[in-house]
Amino acid sequence: MPGAPLLQGPVAPASLEAQSCRPKDVEEGDERKQQVRAPLAQCLTSGCVVFVAAAGFIILYCLFAGRSVLTQRIIPQVPQVGLLAHSGRGNGLGPPPKGDDRHYQHTVLPNGLQVVNVQDKRAVQTAFAMAVEAGSFDDPKALPGLAHFCEHMLFLGTEQYPDASGFDNFMSANGGFNNAYTSDQLTVYFGQLSQEAGKEGLDRFADFFRAPLFNKKYVSKEVNAIDSEHAKNVQDPQRRMFELAFSLANPESPVTAFHTGDKETLYNIPKKKGIDPVDELKTYFNSHYCPEKMRLVTYGSESLAAQLAEAKKGFSSLSVKNDNCKLPRKSYAKPEPWGPKQMGRFVEVRGTLPHAELWLYFALPDLTEDYRSQPTMYMDYVLGYGGQDSLSRVLQDNLGLVSSLSPMFDTNSAGTSLFIVMSLTEPGEKNLELVLDVFYSYLAGLRNKPIDKKTLQQSCPHQQAEMGLGRAFQSF
Ligand SMILES: [Zn+2]
Repeated sequence: MPGAPLLQGPVAPASLEAQSCRPKDVEEGDERKQQVRAPLAQCLTSGCVVFVAAAGFIILYCLFAGRSVLTQRIIPQVPQVGLLAHSGRGNGLGPPPKGDDRHYQHTVLPNGLQVVNVQDKRAVQTAFAMAVEAGSFDDPKALPGLAHFCEHMLFLGTEQYPDASGFDNFMSANGGFNNAYTSDQLTVYFGQLSQEAGKEGLDRFADFFRAPLFNKKYVSKEVNAIDSEHAKNVQDPQRRMFELAFSLANPESPVTAFHTGDKETLYNIPKKKGIDPVDELKTYFNSHYCPEKMRLVTYGSESLAAQLAEAKKGFSSLSVKNDNCKLPRKSYAKPEPWGPKQMGRFVEVRGTLPHAELWLYFALPDLTEDYRSQPTMYMDYVLGYGGQDSLSRVLQDNLGLVSSLSPMFDTNSAGTSLFIVMSLTEPGEKNLELVLDVFYSYLAGLRNKPIDKKTLQQSCPHQQAEMGLGRAFQSF
């Protein structure tokens, strides 16, 4: 959030003691025990999960192998069109941001596909993106990683453009790039290239969704590519922590599933069971890649009418392929991923980083419906605020317990995940209880103060923001 800070730190150091949530019934006369028990009790009774990754220990490989949270091809930079593609959920776009002189147009094609055209007279390239309302939560149980596999296979040839590397080559030859990612309930494809090649680029892109080949001869190669991607992911300290956290959720929820897939889940095991991954891929594609569940964005200097004409040419022939397309957007709120049995845990992890980290996990309600007001932006601001007397300044500068602190959010129909990640200094590692105490004191300050309406109005100028925030804060 650029510009001057909008909000003073909600809790000043002097008020930390006074606003501490430390329970009153802890034993007197044992200061250390009191410090240990109070913040942990606060945390565990209020329902978060605490993870501490200690430094310099061996890797618990077996614990983490076989899982990944976010599956994605390498993304150098997500263009705005990709973001627009999965934020334009309802009909109509609402007013553009102040000072934005681009022109926008929202259209629903007769086949149900929603199209947003964006004219930016200063654009020097053409860009496009497609968001599909399907992701790794929709993987069949027998084929973990299928949504991700589908994303990969779409790039490998279509009826009109059968060359498996044709799309990538065409985009590169025309000064462009392209990519895609698969998340829990969404798969997004995007690319940009020179204006001169824009029309052909869009037509090639449209053929992904009109007529992918899913050529069996590329299955083995692509499964190996996914296998390498997973091997890379298991080395990533952050992904390892995510995986550990989500592995503790209710096993009946797809939150715990293996989302990336690898050679075992996509090839070896299905083969032994007589399952053909390509047949399953076609079923998945026909069930989820429905025009009504997709959003297209085009972006360039061409007029809105010209962009819409090209979009119609490429995408009007997309059709409903099976009855699943008529089903409403699926919710994964049940079975509940984070019930009382799953929360209130303290987990010590043998980490791989040279310093220790403290991760706090909070399961918040699904805030998808509040997307217009972006309540997580406000929470991100007040929790991650780095100004005078803020949580991070007190923990870093006043107490020297952490070297960094950052909140992270993710929302889907199974709920909103909030992680607070702190890199601990040596004193912080030794005084974990104090770190937690300060954190909960700060939360108490947030709870006790009304939502700062000035900040809210400036960052989230929608009335319903307050409602979403109210629901979110109740979960701490
Ligand atoms: Zn991938």
